[in-house]
Parts: sequence; C-alpha cells; structure tokens
Amino acid sequence: MNCPNKTKNLDLCNCSYPGCPRHGLCCECLHYHRQKGALPACYFPTEEEKAYNRSIEYFIDVYNKKKNSPDGEIKKTVSKKIL
Ligand code: SF4
Repeated sequence: MNCPNKTKNLDLCNCSYPGCPRHGLCCECLHYHRQKGALPACYFPTEEEKAYNRSIEYFIDVYNKKKNSPDGEIKKTVSKKIL
C-alpha cells in the first residue's frame, strides 16, 4: 500500500515488533488487530507494548493498573508523541 501519511504515521508509531509490513500504515494495522479482537500497539504504554500482547483484555488490565497507580493516569505513560 502506498500511503501519503506513512512518514508522518511512523513518527507517531510506538510499535517495536520487528519486520511488520504494516508499520506506518495505520488503517491496515487497525484492521489487522481488530479482526483478531485486539488493539494496535499505540493503545499501550511503551513498556507494556513490548509484551506484544495486543488483546483488549490486556489493554483493560494495563489501564486499570495504571489508573490505580500512585500517579493515577495512564496518559502519563503513553507515548508523548501521541498525546
Ligand atoms: S501494532 Fe501490529 S500491525 Fe501495527 S505495526 Fe505493530 S505489529 Fe504491525
């Protein structure tokens, strides 16, 4: 796919999974994970993203842990480029 936004998207992408052909192609990335009942890497904070667990259940678990952490916000841990 030839996406005019690929370079800009790559600047915002926090996915560390090597060799994925969907890097920078957000629409393909979203459809790929959605078909699997999952979410793209950019929904996860950097450290949790490295687990390569993209499930919605894991997202909820991460969100709840961050929400209940002393700093109280998941936003602080998600890529600053995205927020
Ligand atoms: S989140 Fe998934 S589909 Fe998207 S670039 Fe990373 S590995 Fe590829």
